[in-house]
Amino acid sequence: PSVVIGIASAEILRVLTNTRFLNLIRMPYQTDPTVFISIRLSIPMIVTGLIFLLLARLRSELPPLTADVFDPLINWAQASGEGAWWLNTIATFINQVLWYLGIHGGNMLDAYGKGLFTPPGMPYSSDLGWRPLIDNFVFLGGSGATLSLLLAIGLVVKEGSQRRIAQLSAPMAIFNINESVLYGLPVVLNPLYLLPFIGVPIVLILLSVGAVEFGFFELQAVSIPWTTPVFISGWLLTGSWQGVLFQLIELIIGTALYLPFVKRAEQQRIQRQAEALAQATEVILNNNRQSPVLPRQDQVGIIGRGLLDDLRRDLRKNDLALAYQPKHDRSGKIIGVEALMRWHTPHPSIITPAVGISLAEESGDIHKLGMWVLDQACACKARWNAIGYKDLTVAVNVSPLQLTDAELPQRLEKNLELYGLSPEEIELEITESQMIQDIPTVNKTLQLLCDMGVHLAMDDFGMGYSSLLHLRRFQVKAIKIDGSLTRDVLTNTANEDIIRSIVALGQARNVEIVAEYVETLEQRDALMEMGCNVFQGYYHSKPLYEDECPEYFRKNLTELSIIDGK
Ligand code: C2E
Ligand code: MG
Ligand code: MG
Repeated sequence: PSVVIGIASAEILRVLTNTRFLNLIRMPYQTDPTVFISIRLSIPMIVTGLIFLLLARLRSELPPLTADVFDPLINWAQASGEGAWWLNTIATFINQVLWYLGIHGGNMLDAYGKGLFTPPGMPYSSDLGWRPLIDNFVFLGGSGATLSLLLAIGLVVKEGSQRRIAQLSAPMAIFNINESVLYGLPVVLNPLYLLPFIGVPIVLILLSVGAVEFGFFELQAVSIPWTTPVFISGWLLTGSWQGVLFQLIELIIGTALYLPFVKRAEQQRIQRQAEALAQATEVILNNNRQSPVLPRQDQVGIIGRGLLDDLRRDLRKNDLALAYQPKHDRSGKIIGVEALMRWHTPHPSIITPAVGISLAEESGDIHKLGMWVLDQACACKARWNAIGYKDLTVAVNVSPLQLTDAELPQRLEKNLELYGLSPEEIELEITESQMIQDIPTVNKTLQLLCDMGVHLAMDDFGMGYSSLLHLRRFQVKAIKIDGSLTRDVLTNTANEDIIRSIVALGQARNVEIVAEYVETLEQRDALMEMGCNVFQGYYHSKPLYEDECPEYFRKNLTELSIIDGK
């Protein structure tokens, strides 16, 4: 039953502390196996608990086992003349091994190991084990010297929900109740903690027996409840300050011994977490409809679902943001901005907005997310219009999947009306993450958008699913050449040829050619020479938040920061 209670309390703690998946993966104190595996293990572990329960039930039906299994050992230890040293140490060892396996060591010793100890209430003897010595001078905070483990975590682990599990467990550990730590961190069956979980109590019992045998303090023949807090128990059992001081020393020693293991667990966790995340996001970014990520039962699926949960929550709580990246014309003057979703995650370099978009596309949340982006961008554009920047366009990225929503044009129209915008002020960049399906709904949506007068642009042109046929299907105002082509245009002549032919195509069809990922002046000049009309990239500016934009607009509308060579 302790397994079941332990797991239940650990799971409740998890629910309390891991309200966000991102906190979960931020957990600095997750051990081996990694958090993702341990979450998946929780159902098998509950089943294991139930099996234990069943076994216990069966066991109670059988005649009681005789409690003299340790008799030969006890006889040998006593004959050696060092009964207290041996038997206390052996009892501690057995207790720790059982707890490590998730079995209540104390109860098992009560049932089968009575002979190891002097009977309760009797004074300490050098011949036998003494249960109060183990309970109050070794299991400080519970089996495994949990208080020391918690102190070590407090010193090493600075953030995340495992730290909070430790914090929440601390009040219980004061009364030596530690199931939530053992099953919650977990310590049980965790190879990283096998050595200290058994070793620290052994060190402490040897010190304790030594302290008694060498007369550092004397033990009173009192029995006190095992829930008595540390220091109070030290005082009650010895009737002197030495008992308290000794417990303090033990706490410090225990903490020092746990520290390297906690540190190692923390390092491993951070490394595994980063690897798992990087691996998963790579799959998520490259996913396509044929191999969906969300139903997967492996780590990638778990991470994907967790991230999607967070994205949904952030969308609901309005915790997402938009940034705006300026677009400049050939003269260097700003002509508009592109709205880019910003998702604040603990690993911004790994969990990028594109990861969120990809998950939203797969789950269908892209419709809601897309509308949110559109709404925010329109609202922002209206504010800019009010302060005199009506000429600047705002481009919004639209996933091809959004085009399957027949109501998109109508909703956009309502939005424009709400914010008092005219259709030409908004440009929709159709991102090439997914295929633009050639089905009646999509064609109709495209037609309606064109008829409304909103400008359409083909994003990431030249890669992925981009097809020249699209140019025949709908009126395109601009083509954005994919960043992978413009990025190394200076060194890759094949790219140059492709860009020149895209430009020729654009000129023939009276379409604006936008170059993305323009990072340097040389790159911009080369792209300009090839015939691109609009430039966007870090060379001009990174994406800016709304409050940074007006100043940028002011500077880049009036002064021409770059003079066109022609
Ligand atoms: P995109 O539409 O092609 O946007 C350009 C991406 O390139 C942005 O990344 C931008 O920050 C980055 N970028 C711009 N200039 C440079 C540069 O000079 N150097 C480098 N290294 N990077 C540059 P971001 O914001 O991470 O967005 C990635 C993609 O996610 C976007 O590609 C777009 O496909 C998608 N996305 C972003 N926001 C939205 C959205 O609101 N809706 C939809 N459907 N997709 C979005
Ligand atoms: Mg774009
Ligand atoms: Mg692009």
